[in-house]
Amino acid sequence: MAPMIAIESVTKTYDTSRGTVTSLRDVSLDVERGEFVTLVGPSGCGKSTLLNLIAGLLTPTTGQVLVDGRPVTGPGPDRGVIFQQYALFPWLTARENVEFGLRLQGMKKAERRARAQQYLELVGLGRFASSLPKELSGGMKQRCAIARAYAVHPTLLLMDEPFGALDAVTRVQMQDDLLATWQQERRTVLFITHDVDEAVYLAGRVIVMSPSPGRISDVVDVPLAYPRTEEMRLSAQFAKIRGRVWRGVHHPAANTDPATEGALP
Ligand code: ADP
Repeated sequence: MAPMIAIESVTKTYDTSRGTVTSLRDVSLDVERGEFVTLVGPSGCGKSTLLNLIAGLLTPTTGQVLVDGRPVTGPGPDRGVIFQQYALFPWLTARENVEFGLRLQGMKKAERRARAQQYLELVGLGRFASSLPKELSGGMKQRCAIARAYAVHPTLLLMDEPFGALDAVTRVQMQDDLLATWQQERRTVLFITHDVDEAVYLAGRVIVMSPSPGRISDVVDVPLAYPRTEEMRLSAQFAKIRGRVWRGVHHPAANTDPATEGALP
């Protein structure tokens, strides 16, 4: 079976007033069905560019991106995208926000309502279905955005720093909630973060990127079972994995022998 995402020798350049900027150079990556993959690296290493190429919001300069075996030619309902800004419609209630994509799909009202309620409950917002976004905290708004993305049953969820604007305590709670949702639904997730701890805690596999030009500098397996726990987060094994990812992000030149890809030192 084809991988869920296949990125094949993708280069992306931008023509700017300062000349040509190479955002990604010769990047290749496969993501399997049901995987939770995190993408980590310093600002400007091309993480968002890569996500937007998969979302179909950008096209590669050379190379190609396939989702579920088909070349990406534009955005589609098979790919749900969640950005750091919650992007909820402020004049719609939580339920109406979740229903929005279902309405576009032509789903009947009763079915739409039931589906929206189911996903609001899944993210812990069942009692807030009638609330407007301004009545919700940052974490709740992001839960609503996640419910909206999940409700249309995308095969793939693309998340660009979704927890970047949240305080540290809420963020940890959101990580656990997202993993619980993912474990129930097992959709493929590609999740961008700056935060090394978050990258390791969430992922089965961490893709480390480095800048100038953007490329993949390391791929680190996280051989910890799900559900993830606080004990795991504080374990020596976690610290070791975290250390490798940290070095990859902060000292990219010291990385990496491709022959050791996926194996811990
Ligand atoms: P990240 O998400 O890792 O911070 P980006 O994908 O946003 O990285 O950016 C990668 C590189 O591409 C950066 O050098 C950035 O300045 C450049 N870039 C991104 N978008 C554009 C654009 N629309 N025009 C010109 N350069 C861009």
